Amino acid sequence: YLAQHLPKRFAQALNDVHGWAGPLQGYKNSDIEQVARALDQWTIKPAGTEGYRTAEVTLGGVDTRQLSSKTMAVLDKPDLYFIGEVVDVTGHLGGHNFQWAWASGVAAGSDA
Ligand SMILES: Cc1cc2nc3c(=O)[nH]c(=O)nc-3n(C[C@H](O)[C@H](O)[C@H](O)COP(=O)(O)OP(=O)(O)OC[C@H]3O[C@@H](n4cnc5c(N)ncnc54)[C@H](O)[C@@H]3O)c2cc1C
Repeated sequence: YLAQHLPKRFAQALNDVHGWAGPLQGYKNSDIEQVARALDQWTIKPAGTEGYRTAEVTLGGVDTRQLSSKTMAVLDKPDLYFIGEVVDVTGHLGGHNFQWAWASGVAAGSDA
């Protein structure tokens, strides 16, 4: 049944991991509910990363508490600005880092 909705090898791997075996007709309602719960609550824990070679964004950087959130200027050095990747702001992939770089750049550029 799972293989009708998921790639065959993936469905087989799920069966193997959970010890599900035999045709669906042999399952009681409570078994099916258990299978449904296992599928619904399935979580993935990555084993690692590909490292810096394929990294797209960095954690860490200039502490935002030292910067004006309106102008990106350093609070006690108003002629010094930090924007974008160098600041300790990290977005999920999907354009948020570009958006941050551009928006913080405009804020700083408008003030400078
Ligand atoms: C492979 C890859 C894919 C990515 N894909 C996405 C994505 O799809 N969406 C998204 O939102 N973000 C993505 N990012 C992240 C995004 O590119 C960065 O967050 C963003 O470009 C940061 O902009 P920035 O201007 O702060 O820094 P940067 O773009 O790194 O610009 C810094 C500039 O400073 C220059 N520079 C460095 N040192 C000196 C120096 N001493 N003197 C003069 N110039 C110097 C550098 O050459 C560089 O041009 C990706 C990043 C990578 C690496």
